[in-house]
Amino acid sequence: MELMNEKKFGFGCMRLPLLDKEDPTSFDYDLINKLFDMYLEKGFTYFDTAYTYHGYHGEEGVRKALVERHLRDEFQLATKLPLRDFKDSCDMERIFNEQLSNCGVDFFDFYLLHNMGSNVFNKCEKYGAFDFVAKKKAEGKIKVVGMSFHDTPELLDKILSKYTDKLDFIQLQINYVDWNQPNVNACDCLEIANKYNKPVTVMEPCKGGTLVNVPKEAEKLMRDYNPNYSIASWAFRYAASQKGVFRVLSGMNTIEQVEDNASFMQNFEPLNEEEMAIIEKVTKIINENTAVPCTACEYCTHGCPKNIPIPKYFSLYNSIMRTTDSFSSQMVYYNNIAINHGKASECIGCKQCESACPQHIKITTHLKDVVEKFEKIALFLLEKFKKDKIS
Ligand code: SF4
Ligand code: SF4
Repeated sequence: MELMNEKKFGFGCMRLPLLDKEDPTSFDYDLINKLFDMYLEKGFTYFDTAYTYHGYHGEEGVRKALVERHLRDEFQLATKLPLRDFKDSCDMERIFNEQLSNCGVDFFDFYLLHNMGSNVFNKCEKYGAFDFVAKKKAEGKIKVVGMSFHDTPELLDKILSKYTDKLDFIQLQINYVDWNQPNVNACDCLEIANKYNKPVTVMEPCKGGTLVNVPKEAEKLMRDYNPNYSIASWAFRYAASQKGVFRVLSGMNTIEQVEDNASFMQNFEPLNEEEMAIIEKVTKIINENTAVPCTACEYCTHGCPKNIPIPKYFSLYNSIMRTTDSFSSQMVYYNNIAINHGKASECIGCKQCESACPQHIKITTHLKDVVEKFEKIALFLLEKFKKDKIS
């Protein structure tokens, strides 16, 4: 388990820089190479990818920017078995071999069962996913086995009581907004992981970047305490301060982000009591200002029969709910996006997206809110705006 002793800061590769925002495979290798090199130069070593990232090309991107440019013992690589995608026991083997080839390695330092939850747990038991990863570990193809988890503390307890000997660590979504959020339950899930002595890697410490752009009032509280601390640093330090957390993942897109994260993670100091009290106030302000707790992970969009860009619409919806302007530029964005995608009103209610959402968001209900704001009210305001202009 010495692999667990690395520094508490991993490079999350779910949202690598792109040349074309609309094409998840258009990796900006010049920038990614720089970011990876800089992260390694600063003494960090852990890279987290997955089979499904970047439209199923994320592992390939990591191979080109990392594996083909650095010695194997300079970094640790984590990837994940896509639990929604495999069909049966043989298919797990096929995917695993494909992943070794995608990544250009002959073993994984860390390998996780990806996005475990009630929607896939029975399937995992039926086809022996826990035994599969244990077998690969015994063969030396995996060094450390984990599970990324997005469900209730009760299910986590059930899984760990049954399979504790097969899981070395758990990956949980922990951030200050989700700490007591009923659909994520970060605090209770962490308590269960601690109960079974499972070290925890944190994903989404910044909640998909939403904790970087916090409401002004919340930002002021943090800046007043220490103007040199970035807003993101509060979120990372909060996650890394929790008991049992051995690593926090950060998806970085700029040199400044790598510099900033390294500055406070190199000699990590947990948040003190005064800082924790500020976080409590900040959480309250953010909760009062966020309509849909979407992290923009995009899990819901694969397979939507109407090609509805759900997280984009939710992001616009959250922004418009924070503004007091009646006609916001968000409406222009909505119309532009809808040219090449399904509109929110085209949703047929099949709910395949809801079963994929790790945040358990009632997507179809919120899409109706989007329709109200961006299709009905926007149309009404546009007509009114035209009339006012003519008269
Ligand atoms: S419920 Fe609506 S948004 Fe969700 S997958 Fe079906 S059509 Fe797409
Ligand atoms: S709605 Fe859920 S699955 Fe879709 S992007 Fe947001 S958090 Fe991810």
